[in-house]
Amino acid sequence: MDAEIIAIGSELLLGVTVDTNSAYLARQLAAAGVNVYRKMVVGDNVDRITTAVREALSRADLVICTGGLGPTLDDVTREAVAAALNRPLEFHPELLDQIAARFAAMNRPMSESNRRQAYVPAGARIIPNPRGTAPAFLIEDERGTVVVLPGVPGEMRYLFETAVLPYLREERGITTVILVRTLHAVGLGESVIGERIADLMQQTNPTVGISAKRARYELRIGARAESQAEAEAMIARTEAIIRERLGQYLLGEEELPTVVARLLRERHQTLALYEGILRAPVLQALLSLPDSDQVLRGVEIHPLDSPADTQAASDLAAAGAANVAERWQSSIGLGVQPASWPDTNGFTSVSFVLITPTGERRLNRPFDLRSSDGFEFIGTAALDLLRRYLAGEPE
Ligand code: ATP
Ligand code: MG
Repeated sequence: MDAEIIAIGSELLLGVTVDTNSAYLARQLAAAGVNVYRKMVVGDNVDRITTAVREALSRADLVICTGGLGPTLDDVTREAVAAALNRPLEFHPELLDQIAARFAAMNRPMSESNRRQAYVPAGARIIPNPRGTAPAFLIEDERGTVVVLPGVPGEMRYLFETAVLPYLREERGITTVILVRTLHAVGLGESVIGERIADLMQQTNPTVGISAKRARYELRIGARAESQAEAEAMIARTEAIIRERLGQYLLGEEELPTVVARLLRERHQTLALYEGILRAPVLQALLSLPDSDQVLRGVEIHPLDSPADTQAASDLAAAGAANVAERWQSSIGLGVQPASWPDTNGFTSVSFVLITPTGERRLNRPFDLRSSDGFEFIGTAALDLLRRYLAGEPE
């Protein structure tokens, strides 16, 4: 079954309201195994909504609209859907009674404009809305099925889960399951990861996608199957292949800060930081660890006061790391120190040193300190150095 989603409301086009309804519906439909091929956002305009519904029906079996069911004259979804299906609007006295009862229960007067909400296209199946005044409805037409839900996110979700999903499962035979697993990777370039799993990224089921944020990567595996168990098995097989290809760079389902915090806890280690960068990107990264105040014992921020090349920077980082570990009685000292000038490409060498109970690890790597991204890369590199040491991986 193929579906399209139409979000209706001029506030969505103005960017005043973010269209979260479509994202919700897309996730729900994907999980139910319904392919969503297109989403549209249309303002509160009868002609444009009518056209959108007609177009969507020409391509998809199922069209889900949200928004524009309110009582005011600018809520025109009812009229537009009726026009798109060439059906008249019909007045339902029992709907008006329900709306009136709801106002009575809230002890508020019903306005004449609420009458509009008692009209639905001829032949529509009414979906009662206990959460709001606007009833939703569903029309099975020979061109396809149109479902119309209110725009208020809580009402829309409630009606989708209690009425639309059961309809899809019980009356339209939807049984498919789609599962998505997100894995995190760090330390390799996006192009390198992309090359190592290029064949997987071309598969259609399971699908593998990757997104990057400053040297941290998210890999999403999505599997479609006729049962939960089958989908899980497909994901497990793909995950095993990815693990084999990325090795130590693959973290698993936990994000980098969570992994580092967990390893510190499991290994009963504590940390002190010496950082030679005023903007303190490594401190920022360490503060993102869950329970950072329990593992981070002390911090010294000490920008360079005399010129240093890479070797000198590395020695300063080592001395600083040893010093803070001693001062705050932590088991690990981490020192970070950039050289004082960039190379000819504009990149500055940054030295990282870990002083640990078993020895020392050093890393020098160039970063672009002219961009704020460069600083976030430094934070990621420091966390990954810690992770690899704690996980017992080679330097
Ligand atoms: P009701 O009759 O219950 O008011 P409605 O169908 O008329 O429902 P709208 O008037 O279009 O709904 O929107 C009601 C509220 O829901 C508004 O605050 C609007 O910003 C919000 N809303 C509408 N559409 C969306 C959407 N696609 N995503 C997120 N919020 C939305
Ligand atoms: Mg609206």
